[in-house]
Amino acid sequence: MTNRNRQLFERAQKCIPGGVNSPVRAFRCVGGTPPFLVSGQGARVTDADGKTYLDYVGSWGPLILGHAPPKVVAAVREIAAQGLSFGAPTEIEVDMAELLCRLLPSLDLVRLVGSGTEATMSAIRLARGHTGRDLLIKFEGCYHGHSDSLLVKAGSGMLTFGHPDSGGVPVDLARHTLVLDYNDDAALAQAFARHGERVAAVIVEPVAGNMNLVAPRPEFLQSLRAQCSQYGSVLIFDEVMTGFRVGLACAQGRYGIRPDLTTLGKVIGGGMPVAAFGGRREIMEKIAPLGPVYQAGTLSGNPLSVAAGLATLRLIQTPGFFAELERRATALCNGLTAAAIKHGAVFSAQSIGGMFGLYFRARCPENFAEVMQCDQAAFNRFFHAMLDAGHYFAPSPFESGFVSSAHSDADIAETVAAAEEVFRKG
Ligand SMILES: *Cc1c(COP(=O)(O)O)cnc(C)c1O
Repeated sequence: MTNRNRQLFERAQKCIPGGVNSPVRAFRCVGGTPPFLVSGQGARVTDADGKTYLDYVGSWGPLILGHAPPKVVAAVREIAAQGLSFGAPTEIEVDMAELLCRLLPSLDLVRLVGSGTEATMSAIRLARGHTGRDLLIKFEGCYHGHSDSLLVKAGSGMLTFGHPDSGGVPVDLARHTLVLDYNDDAALAQAFARHGERVAAVIVEPVAGNMNLVAPRPEFLQSLRAQCSQYGSVLIFDEVMTGFRVGLACAQGRYGIRPDLTTLGKVIGGGMPVAAFGGRREIMEKIAPLGPVYQAGTLSGNPLSVAAGLATLRLIQTPGFFAELERRATALCNGLTAAAIKHGAVFSAQSIGGMFGLYFRARCPENFAEVMQCDQAAFNRFFHAMLDAGHYFAPSPFESGFVSSAHSDADIAETVAAAEEVFRKG
């Protein structure tokens, strides 16, 4: 890391907490100075020192078409000239809502918001308002944004109520959140048997992507649906990451489960701030101005953001788009695994659609405890060696990676070749 990035990071730390506007960007997990990014084009980003990287972060998921896709940039330019914000209804919001409802049969009604955090926070308020219950079930290692009810981790032992995972979250609030193990349907059944009548909602990442990637066991998703239906609890699929990332029908289509509410973000904004929550009419009609559950936003449905999102959603409907994306993500994972095995590294990898997980562990993990067994020091060495070689992976072993349609076979081959060199040196 040369001078300019260092200078900028020093300047940043004097006026921004930790020098960053979102904690993982600070490289605390892996150490070192984060590159300050100046531009992105297709699969590559360039930092303040002029060094170029093949990017597997993709702004943490939104950039399914890669950086600065010409049609998306043009759509934003065009609409910007007509005004940046109105705070009044616009046609483009209707286009977006219609498209989302058409692509996802579980959405009767959908509302646009500004971030994934807002979407999940609102969906939970709505579920509580709809059921008149307070209790929320979430799963350890799943991330649903940073609202109070969701920054809760498991207590000691299963089936205990959560405690705050962050300063500033009232213990009283955390007590309304029950934290269970991902992929554990026995624990889920037990929790419902005990508390079912009080459960407002279960919120889940249908493919977990915020504890590295953890694939759902299909029976786990089926039992979520069955338990929620039996007890009248609202099943919320948090598809902020998986939505239009694991396929055009999102995770709910891929696994054949119909949630009551869905949250979306990331890809639906194409790199601009748009997120959404939507679902069953009967529940969504409880939202203001139709119902008693309040939710609002000055910049909600912002025309520039919606233009970027809509252009992105139109482009990913090209036939074969997801098959191709999945093929490249698979090639990356297979290539990295083969390179690791060749040089005796303990490593595994998997992808689902355009997202992938890399693990310094012999087998892909199935829950948070197994993710924690990965060799973090080995990850850090790999991360830094790859970064030096010009391959930008997420600076934490607890994040998923992303491939975009701008990643060519040659790009993937280049990354695999660099990784082989890194594994060879050990
Ligand atoms: C990123 C993410 C969020 C939070 O979205 P923000 O736009 O960062 O607020 C919520 N849920 C999931 C599953 C996410 O991946």
